[in-house]
Amino acid sequence: MITRRQFIIQSSLLSGTLAIPGTLMSAMTTDEGDPDQMFDVIIVGGSYAGLSAAMALGRSLRKVLLIDSGLPCNRQTPHSHNFITQDGAKPREIADKARQQVLNYKTVSFYEDVALKLRKTGNLFELGTQSGTVFLAKKLLFATGLKDIMPAIPGFSDCWGISILHCPYCHGYEVKGQKTGILGNGNVAFHYAQLVSNLTDQLSIFTDGKAEFSAAQYQLLRKNNIQVVEQRVRSIVHNKGRLSGMVLQDGSTSTIGALYARPSFEQHCKIPVELGCELTEQGLLKLDTAQQTSIPGIYACGDNSAFRSVATAVSTGSHAGAAINMALSTEIFNLK
Ligand SMILES: Cc1cc2nc3c(=O)[nH]c(=O)nc-3n(C[C@H](O)[C@H](O)[C@H](O)COP(=O)(O)OP(=O)(O)OC[C@H]3O[C@@H](n4cnc5c(N)ncnc54)[C@H](O)[C@@H]3O)c2cc1C
Repeated sequence: MITRRQFIIQSSLLSGTLAIPGTLMSAMTTDEGDPDQMFDVIIVGGSYAGLSAAMALGRSLRKVLLIDSGLPCNRQTPHSHNFITQDGAKPREIADKARQQVLNYKTVSFYEDVALKLRKTGNLFELGTQSGTVFLAKKLLFATGLKDIMPAIPGFSDCWGISILHCPYCHGYEVKGQKTGILGNGNVAFHYAQLVSNLTDQLSIFTDGKAEFSAAQYQLLRKNNIQVVEQRVRSIVHNKGRLSGMVLQDGSTSTIGALYARPSFEQHCKIPVELGCELTEQGLLKLDTAQQTSIPGIYACGDNSAFRSVATAVSTGSHAGAAINMALSTEIFNLK
């Protein structure tokens, strides 16, 4: 991680030695401003997806700036699972190791800041940050993830990622066989029930109000011994995020050791939507097969546009890096 001052120094040192193709370097350094502030690609979001893209781009000698505000969605989770070679590692350790490896490529810089504004000026994108710095790039990649919106149930946010879990693949094995709850209703809760009943046979659904299951779903829930609790949930009993029960509307406490829940979410970074990038029905960025959004030159990868897992973030990031490099290579090649 570098400060703004260190960043400017590092960029200045680098700009003399960059192996950027001649046409691109000269296009950047003549009439378009300070070369230290100019990049082939700016990646907003320096977690798993952004770092993975940066590696593909760094290895392709692209001048890359990663801008990151340091708030990955899994930051409260003690251990990350189901990403091969890193099973059980602390989320931060995975990202730190990735950052170290990515920054070995001298054309990649990491900058701690919040990206706030983006506009197109000629063939370049101009990105402004919270600290007031402005950078220019030929391509923009958003690897900005999602922001989970915590329900207003006391204790929920303290337990999020520790004993309140969103994904059975990530954390289900660790709580297998335990008395487990699902906080949800309708199809989402039913889907969780089908999945989680593979991991425990002590399962209840807390609908936090009137249940909304079809007759067929009710029948299957009954056959699988899954209890449906329709009372409102008042609060969650926990010790440092480790829950032990749910306090219900009638004052009783239902004892459980783990809870699955899928809170609603929003795009962590508003810039792509403000610019007019299209979203899917689920609120994810809509992409083509080259990870490009509906606005040419703006790409996305990771949670903001894909299934939520570290493996997928790394995979889509790598794909985005390769796709952007291909686009740049073609543009430069065809200029000759
Ligand atoms: C609680 C929890 C536990 C999880 N556990 C697991 C697990 O065990 N195994 C697994 O495979 N997956 C797990 N996941 C899913 C996994 O964490 C995500 O799929 C993964 O973090 C997505 O990576 P990403 O790079 O797309 O986004 P993130 O990791 O969320 O990173 C996005 C980055 O973009 C930055 N950013 C956003 N907006 C801006 C801006 N405007 N300017 C600058 N920077 C910005 C953020 O600060 C952040 O650093 C978990 C998720 C959650 C919520």
